[in-house]
Formats: sequence, structure tokens, C-alpha cells
Amino acid sequence: MSLPAVAVSQSPEDKFREYLTSRPRPQRYTEQQRELVRYIFGEHNHFDADQLIDAVKREGFQASRATVYRTLNKLVDAGMLRRLEVGTRTFYEHDYGYPQHEHLYCSQCNQMIEFQHAALNPLIEDICRQHGFRNSGYSLIVRGLCAECNRARVTKRRLDLV
Ligand SMILES: [Zn+2]
Ligand SMILES: [Zn+2]
Repeated sequence: MSLPAVAVSQSPEDKFREYLTSRPRPQRYTEQQRELVRYIFGEHNHFDADQLIDAVKREGFQASRATVYRTLNKLVDAGMLRRLEVGTRTFYEHDYGYPQHEHLYCSQCNQMIEFQHAALNPLIEDICRQHGFRNSGYSLIVRGLCAECNRARVTKRRLDLV
């Protein structure tokens, strides 16, 4: 389940190339990085570095662990990936070409449920105004139990009572 994409003028690969060449010390766009960008932006997902490293191995890419970490950091810096901190875990997801949205995180099955709500942005703007705060972005993560895990727990409790 993912939200409808937002139209962007450049492909993720071109966008990243532009970022690398615009650095104070321009960097080379390696074939490994190109493969990673293509893979990461192939599908919208919430993943951590280890999951990406496993996927890279499965796909048979030649990218080392260090390259994966370095590329993730650069993609965040380029504004293409968003970092989501949940407890001690760090997840990544597309920011480039994807609409603003927030998350419900299930601490039982680690599921990330995306949502959008029209009331949220005006509310945040209002809060920032009250504090004379200049908003440069936010991410909201609600932790708890998803419907399935909650149902499983209630069922188990009922069974325990029998
Ligand atoms: Zn769950
Ligand atoms: Zn998301």
C-alpha cells in the first residue's frame, strides 16, 4: 500500500547526479551508486540499512556495506530519502517524488502504516506561529499496535480467560 506519487521533473538517477556534481568537491557517480538508486527508487518502502544490504546481496549487486551506508547518507543529504527514527532503529523511505505523509508504527510486527490528514498541516502551522517558529519540516510517528496485532492480543486474552 503506497500513496500516489508526486510528479517530479527529474528521474531519481538524474537528481542524484546533480547533487553529486553540485558538491563543493564534485563526486563521481559510481555504477554501484547508480544501481542502488535505481533499486531504492523502484518501489516505495520503509527499510533499514540491514534490510537494504540483504536485498543488495539477493540482487547480486557489487555494493559493499560501506557503500550502502555512504549512499544512504548522501541520499538523505540530497533530500531524496527521509530518515525515520523509531526507538533504536532507523528506517529510510522516499521523499523525492512522494507526498508528505505520517506514520503509525506497530511495535509488534514492525509494520509502518502511512496516513495523511488534512487537519494536521494547519495545526502544525498554527503551533509554529504561536512559538514564532519557522517550520522546515516535520515527521510524526505514532507507536502502538496495528489492528491485526491488537485483535490477536484480544483473542488471546479471551482464550486465556476460558
Ligand atoms: Zn502489528
Ligand atoms: Zn512512509
